[in-house]
Amino acid sequence: MSVPRTLGELRRSSFSEERMRTRRVKDELRDNLIARLRDNGDSPIFPGIVGYDDTVVPQIVNAILSRHNFILLGLRGQAKSRILRALTTLLDPQMPYLAGCEIHDNPYSPICKRCRDEVARQGDGAPVAYLSPDDRYIEKLATPDVTIADLIGDIDPIKAARGGLELSSEMTVHYGLLPRANRGIFAINELPDLAGKIQVGLFNIMQEGDVQIKGYPVRLPLDLALVFSANPEDYTARGKIITPLKDRIGSEIRTHYPATVEEGIAITAQEAWSRRNGQAMHLPNYVQEVIERVAFAARDDKKIDKRSGVSQRLPISAMENVISNAERRAIRNGEKVVVPRISDVYAALPAITGKLELEYEGEMKGADHVGRELIRAAIAKTYDEYYTGANVQQIVQWFDLGGEIQMSDSVAAAEALENLKGIQGLIGKLEPLSVSQKDSPEQQVSAAEFILEGLHAHKRIGRSEERIFKAGDKKPEAVREKSFEPDEKPYRQRRQFN
Ligand SMILES: [Zn+2]
Repeated sequence: MSVPRTLGELRRSSFSEERMRTRRVKDELRDNLIARLRDNGDSPIFPGIVGYDDTVVPQIVNAILSRHNFILLGLRGQAKSRILRALTTLLDPQMPYLAGCEIHDNPYSPICKRCRDEVARQGDGAPVAYLSPDDRYIEKLATPDVTIADLIGDIDPIKAARGGLELSSEMTVHYGLLPRANRGIFAINELPDLAGKIQVGLFNIMQEGDVQIKGYPVRLPLDLALVFSANPEDYTARGKIITPLKDRIGSEIRTHYPATVEEGIAITAQEAWSRRNGQAMHLPNYVQEVIERVAFAARDDKKIDKRSGVSQRLPISAMENVISNAERRAIRNGEKVVVPRISDVYAALPAITGKLELEYEGEMKGADHVGRELIRAAIAKTYDEYYTGANVQQIVQWFDLGGEIQMSDSVAAAEALENLKGIQGLIGKLEPLSVSQKDSPEQQVSAAEFILEGLHAHKRIGRSEERIFKAGDKKPEAVREKSFEPDEKPYRQRRQFN
């Protein structure tokens, strides 16, 4: 399909002056959103954004319908950047602008001098070019060293000298990111990290479209949809955001972590790299649940910093490592199907520990220790989902009578299954996991190991560093839990004297 190439052709096309002259980015977002709301029925407004249908999405819809600049407030890994990027799906597939313009001027009302001169000279012959939605999205991570020159622009003395121009002429401006984003979406992540002076510059753009560059007032009535993201505590901390800027941000929208384990699993399944070149894989539900509950447990754990949060990238990276560990085992043992086990979750610690910001108490214990505790808590909870009320006495007894079994994460399934069959009552207990003796050895081993790990997480049986399952020591759980405290208190008291 050919598109108009000159201003004259553009006038006679569907991009008519009547439709385009005063249509600003926020009108465009609004129009396309309304069309989507009408046509989409029950399908999601922003495909790929999971768990926000009843909370965040309606608020974003309202902000766009209101033609607001808005900010997403949320902790790490709550899909803030993804939502902001998804706004490009509300832009027109093609947007005409005056070809060669650095700030993508509207062909019917150019704001830069170059374009006004150009249209005066060529009239309807002025050439027109187009931008795609992706070209119209500019993202900037705010850091304290961002300058006005970066964001708005600078006087370029070389440009002035070459053109024989006054320094104060608009033609000598070297445009920054904001003017270059003109007629598009400009996203600033971590807004509170922007210096106060820059916030003032931003405010002026939002308020009047006026820009001051090194003392020279340049009027640039930019057309921008400004969207921001920030950590809620940074944003609300006094003095971090200048009040007039806060005042100009139309809507403040809070994001959140997945509300349920099921939603978390859906996000992780969507984001993690799990379909790998041709290798057959069976990913058990209980493994997915354990991985997801590690993140849930971490978000609730007082040893982990609440202000920075626990990103959804934790279960996503953990899932990738879990699959890799299972993949490695399958390759080494020449197995046809990759079936992750709970031991693979422990092997995924490197994908977990780095994503936990530890409080003092956590630091004392070490990230590995905290990570293992979280995995264990996640296993215990998941085990309860399947086995609450189940009679597993026979299995526990087998260990109490001196039975021991080593379950290394590298051992082949066929061999492991033979060993596991020696534990009376174990293989007969896989039914709640939807696994039977007709399933592959890989699946049976994974399921049986889950039961052993569950019993160990509940301290019904023991397990050594070498992954040998054996009888548990007979102390009741309550007493063992308390035994953590004595070795903590001296640390804390000593700390206060420092
Ligand atoms: Zn221009």
